[in-house]
Amino acid sequence: MQIDWLPLEQVTQEGEHTYTFHLKRPDGFVWEEGAHTHMALEGFNAGEKPNRSLIRHMSISTLPHEGTIGITTRIKPECSVFKETLRQLRMGEKIALFKTHSNIPLRRENRTVYLLSAGVGLATFRPIILQHQADRSGIPHMHSLNIDSTRTGLFQEHLRPTEQFSTYYVDNRSAYFDFVKEMATDKEGLFYIVGSDDFLTDTIDVLKIANIPTAQMMLDKRQDQLNTFLT
Ligand SMILES: Cc1cc2nc3c(=O)[nH]c(=O)nc-3n(C[C@H](O)[C@H](O)[C@H](O)COP(=O)(O)OP(=O)(O)OC[C@H]3O[C@@H](n4cnc5c(N)ncnc54)[C@H](O)[C@@H]3O)c2cc1C
Repeated sequence: MQIDWLPLEQVTQEGEHTYTFHLKRPDGFVWEEGAHTHMALEGFNAGEKPNRSLIRHMSISTLPHEGTIGITTRIKPECSVFKETLRQLRMGEKIALFKTHSNIPLRRENRTVYLLSAGVGLATFRPIILQHQADRSGIPHMHSLNIDSTRTGLFQEHLRPTEQFSTYYVDNRSAYFDFVKEMATDKEGLFYIVGSDDFLTDTIDVLKIANIPTAQMMLDKRQDQLNTFLT
């Protein structure tokens, strides 16, 4: 397994307790939109077995052409050892990335794409939205709906609405599900969903009740996990 140790180049604050960690992108390190990676901190592989408290799955919130590997996450004052270590990292210190892969690349099937995210889950969709803005073929319209009770309005300044892209931010479940039901009147739509497992399950239930086929739902899960969620 290839492990890349990459220096931290910059940290951008995106909102209260929300930061993007920018790592140096080596030549040849590329990924598809929607990709996630394994992010690991120094010492994770020092023992016989990997130390899981120093490893997290993280989406990559940038695209390769931006020249940086962005990882967006929340770090609250009370947090895990992993997040506390991340908070204290200094520029130039290295983070390991491995097993980078996208389960949710853009499907260009002449269907409208609906991106449903909770909180920092919008970070997974940022590169998908940018990719659509760069090449709209096969995707007549894209909608992004984000629910966030902290009202961070993540990436709001960068992900501006256009004729082919609409973006909505809500801060409560009732407004979120009203939007989802409205979107689900489009029986041909593709629904990408990113958030906690409970968020996925609740959203899938609403889409199923609206008779959206599970083949039109995209989750960042391995095939065996997908079956558990969708059936
Ligand atoms: C495919 C995939 C992609 C993902 N992409 C992202 C991403 O882009 N960004 C992202 O942020 N996350 C992402 N996640 C989730 C990520 O892997 C972590 O589970 C998440 O960030 C929480 O990590 P943590 O270390 O805060 O949580 P955990 O250690 O799992 O703890 C869960 C929660 O418990 C609380 N907690 C834990 N320890 C303490 C403590 N000592 N004191 C007080 N409270 C504590 C915190 O509120 C914490 O959020 C992704 C997950 C998957 C599967």
